[in-house]
Amino acid sequence: MTDSIHKTRMANKKAAVDAKIAKATQERGVLILLKGNGKGKSSSAFGTMARSVGHGKRCAVIQFIKGRMETGEFKFFKDHPLIDWHVMGHGFTWETQNKSLDIIAAQKAWVLAEELLQNERYDMLVFDELSYMFKYQYLDVEPVVAALKKRPAMQNVIITGRTMALPLQEIADTISSVQDERHAFRQGVKAQVGIEF
Ligand code: ATP
Ligand code: MG
Repeated sequence: MTDSIHKTRMANKKAAVDAKIAKATQERGVLILLKGNGKGKSSSAFGTMARSVGHGKRCAVIQFIKGRMETGEFKFFKDHPLIDWHVMGHGFTWETQNKSLDIIAAQKAWVLAEELLQNERYDMLVFDELSYMFKYQYLDVEPVVAALKKRPAMQNVIITGRTMALPLQEIADTISSVQDERHAFRQGVKAQVGIEF
């Protein structure tokens, strides 16, 4: 490609990008859903949270399912003055095998989530594995949708989980699906500190 063709193509591209940027004029918080079976949903949510905190934004995390191990991100972020981190669930269903306890834990977590969704002090909320609560019918999705719609205008919310309830998808601003093409676990690699948790 000659320099002049390259220059023309790039000028056209810039005009197209500039036109799109000029159209995006709204200033408001967004609802981001990170779904799919691939690895990278929670780590993306916490990466985005780090980005916000870097700009001095106040954030809160609710982990709706407590893993077996304390995660590196919890250890890293828990004492940060701009972050409130709540580990709420009490384990994976297939490990606890106690549905009524799971439901109580889910409802307690939701009470807190609803409070945070009314609090303008928080610029970003991360609800990790919230979607799982609907899959197992621990929570109804309608009150969650209602609370999300009523939240402060500038508040950003990120929800992660492999499957995402349709009513959440209907009101989301950004939905990214992380596709599972390959995972080391299936090749026999043990879960490791700093990669899996
Ligand atoms: P991460 O926290 O690494 O961003 P995730 O949030 O996308 O992962 P989850 O569905 O929450 O993934 O699963 C959490 C754990 O399971 C992590 O330890 C992750 O490495 C692992 N994992 C994620 N996807 C897969 C997969 N397709 N096969 C096996 N293990 C997976
Ligand atoms: Mg996750």
